[in-house]
Amino acid sequence: MTTVNFNELRLAEPLLRALRAEAHDKPTPIQAAAIPHILAGKDVLGTAQTGTGKTAAFLLPIMHALAGSRSRPNAPRALILAPTRELAAQIAERAGAYGRFIGLTSTAVFGGVKEGAQLAALSRAPDILIATPGRLLDFLNQRRLRLDAVTHLVLDEADRMLDMGFVRDVRRIVAHLPKSRQSLLFSATMPKDVLALAGELLRDPVRVAVAPAEIVVARIDQKVFFVEAAAKRGLLVKLLQDPRLSRVLVFTRTKHGAKRLAMQLEKAGVESDAIHGDRPQSGRVKALAAFRSGNVRVLVATDVAARGIDVPDVTHVINFDIPNVPEAYVHRIGRTARAGAGGVAWSFCDGAELENLRQIERLTRTPLAAANARPSQAPAPVRENARPARRRTPRKRGWRETRAAA
Ligand code: AMP
Repeated sequence: MTTVNFNELRLAEPLLRALRAEAHDKPTPIQAAAIPHILAGKDVLGTAQTGTGKTAAFLLPIMHALAGSRSRPNAPRALILAPTRELAAQIAERAGAYGRFIGLTSTAVFGGVKEGAQLAALSRAPDILIATPGRLLDFLNQRRLRLDAVTHLVLDEADRMLDMGFVRDVRRIVAHLPKSRQSLLFSATMPKDVLALAGELLRDPVRVAVAPAEIVVARIDQKVFFVEAAAKRGLLVKLLQDPRLSRVLVFTRTKHGAKRLAMQLEKAGVESDAIHGDRPQSGRVKALAAFRSGNVRVLVATDVAARGIDVPDVTHVINFDIPNVPEAYVHRIGRTARAGAGGVAWSFCDGAELENLRQIERLTRTPLAAANARPSQAPAPVRENARPARRRTPRKRGWRETRAAA
């Protein structure tokens, strides 16, 4: 955390009041770094993962800029693009919290739910629109809204947006925006394709960064269990006997795996539920609400479904499968260290996953502590501070895999 406080960032008083109400005492590093540039009207290219406070880093200065005038119906003045419904809903929830005293309104549009309520909300002239690309393009094609009044564009989780194959949709949407606007792009990682998109969308951007490796290493207690694939479920059930694992997010690689594991846990007497791409939005919302309220102790999720999940006090993240895209590891374990809190992340690694584990250790530049003996064929942990690995799989394969798993 930084020593700057929110007053020094010169945000409007109603925003400061909302921050007090949210008990956000001090800006997080990404907020301290990004907010002054955004307030100064600069385009910003930000490296920050979910959990760093990046949502407020862009919402607060945008709200500051929009305050004092109103939008027209179906013509928002700020557009925030997010790759998943969960993230869009999460940003909308934050916009409601930060905007409640400043007289600005926001709404979210995303697929998987009926259009009617979203169209009605657009006609009530929201100032800020948070959207996933698909549903937004549908509405644009149907001429249900216009983007020519947009003065602020945010592309959130740009790396995931590209992983999910949204790049063309993003370009089509941006073609509807005025050329003269402020644009912000946030991404957990900055591979070449994200930088190329940033080059298209941003003008002379300022770069701000919170390195994922820093976050991972600093606050999360990480451990790897070497275990055969067939023994993973038994190990999970055994670990769950410890009541300190009170709010546990378990990641699987496939949606089928998520479904099956949640059912098996239920059978073993552990309250659990699953969220994955096959599940309708209403079911996902219900599962998340039950997890948040503590009625469900274990939530099993796939990577894509888990984007944007913001549940405070996740005590443990368990990687039932090791992700095959190393960046996904950073996204996953970030769920247990929200804005300053620490957390625990355990990974189950079978013989076929040793190479994926090695990729993760290279990316985070940290050898993971082993809960039991590393198998002899396991590659030795990388040296601390070794250079991060180059991406092993070509980007395209990465997104196909990720998408298939959703
Ligand atoms: P984000 O990275 O935007 O998903 O934010 C993660 C979590 O941090 C959210 O629950 C926010 O409400 C919380 N948060 C954001 N900024 C701050 C802050 N300055 N102090 C404390 N919590 C914060």
